[in-house]
Amino acid sequence: MAATRIWIKNPLAIFTANNLDAAGGLVIEDGVISELLKAGQQPSQPCDQTFDAREHVVLPGLINTHHHFYQTLTRAWGPVVNQPLFPWLKTLYPVWARLTPEKLALASKVALAELLLSGCSTAADHHYLFPGGLENAIDVQVEAVRELGMRAMLTRGSMSLGEADGGLPPQQTVQQGEVILADSQRLIQQYHQRGDGAQIQIALAPCSPFSVTQEIMRQSAELAEELDVRLHTHLAETLDEEDFCLQRFGLRTVDYLDSVGWLSSRTWLAHGIHFNPDEIVRLGAAGTGICHCPSSNMRLASGICPTLDLEAAGAPIGLGVDGSASNDASNMILEARQALYIQRLRYGAEKITPELVLGWASKGSAKLLGRSDIGELAVGKQADLGFFKLDELRFSGSHDPISALLLCGADKADRMMVGGQWRVIDGQIEGLDVAKLIADHRQAAKELIAG
Ligand SMILES: [Zn+2]
Repeated sequence: MAATRIWIKNPLAIFTANNLDAAGGLVIEDGVISELLKAGQQPSQPCDQTFDAREHVVLPGLINTHHHFYQTLTRAWGPVVNQPLFPWLKTLYPVWARLTPEKLALASKVALAELLLSGCSTAADHHYLFPGGLENAIDVQVEAVRELGMRAMLTRGSMSLGEADGGLPPQQTVQQGEVILADSQRLIQQYHQRGDGAQIQIALAPCSPFSVTQEIMRQSAELAEELDVRLHTHLAETLDEEDFCLQRFGLRTVDYLDSVGWLSSRTWLAHGIHFNPDEIVRLGAAGTGICHCPSSNMRLASGICPTLDLEAAGAPIGLGVDGSASNDASNMILEARQALYIQRLRYGAEKITPELVLGWASKGSAKLLGRSDIGELAVGKQADLGFFKLDELRFSGSHDPISALLLCGADKADRMMVGGQWRVIDGQIEGLDVAKLIADHRQAAKELIAG
């Protein structure tokens, strides 16, 4: 059977995340981009379908590189609305410890649906809670990703340093090293797909310096090397964390990272705020990726990531919405707007452009996840596309369509395509009853807080 060829024709505007011109649109064949067209150019071969994109701004499907899906159950919870990271965590841990497979399934679906509707086609999640009964948390998440038809980098997180041993999390939320490593190995063997077009990938992700042992950091790095998967953790998010590292390990955060074998291009870090100039050089030389999480960093008053310095040193930059207890939205296109504005406060208006930030949210994020098949529009890349309309009141009177997306505050995609398949049409996710999902999720959130 001949492949289906689709022409995405004459978009209102298109951002390729590279220097290629696709003003006339692009052709998709078997879920992969087979041709980019200049203005007025026709596809080289006849197409079976044509989608007229004259009303759409087209972007590569955005890629979220840090989240905690389960936290959608604890958004805007009164007791932590005005707390910084450490007290915020200590107040939330006992609530999170009550998570169940059913609640995680609902939370993951909500987060993924929200991301998809905001232009995101690939999402990373950092799940580190495995209380009794929730040993199969990642398996639950795999199901949710498949249901939504998105791509995901699910990270097998972990916590192994409880309060009794000087860590931050309560003892009932930590696991033994052997259990963590055995489950990590199982998940990689069972689910990790390699090569172009992968839908599910697994990475290893001990939670943070104050919640895991040095041993599990080292062992995770060794296992990741052996099985060739990526490494992820939180680092240099707050000064409290820096103090913790100095007191417990006698090391600053990057020295700590180096000491456990993580200073490499296999690693991407969430936040990466409190680095000195020497540490920025070392992270850049190693090619360690940094996921910038602007909303969360403002919400918890953690600080501002030195993105341009890191990038200049050689560290790739991507974007993440972070967990929903600290954002509290999972909206990828709005996160790009937040990045634009907070980074302008640090580096000025001339250097931080909408194109730069959209590049972080697409091509930069793909680099963090170790993927070269997504994140930009070019021949041979996956047909993961976001389509935004500029027909709402907020866009009226705007001129440059790409800038308008961020400056006027676009918050939802009209259509989404993942691997050549339409997943969102007219702002609706194919095959998902959103009203029912909200009702069930809301109930689960109430139960979780009630205990
Ligand atoms: Zn996080």
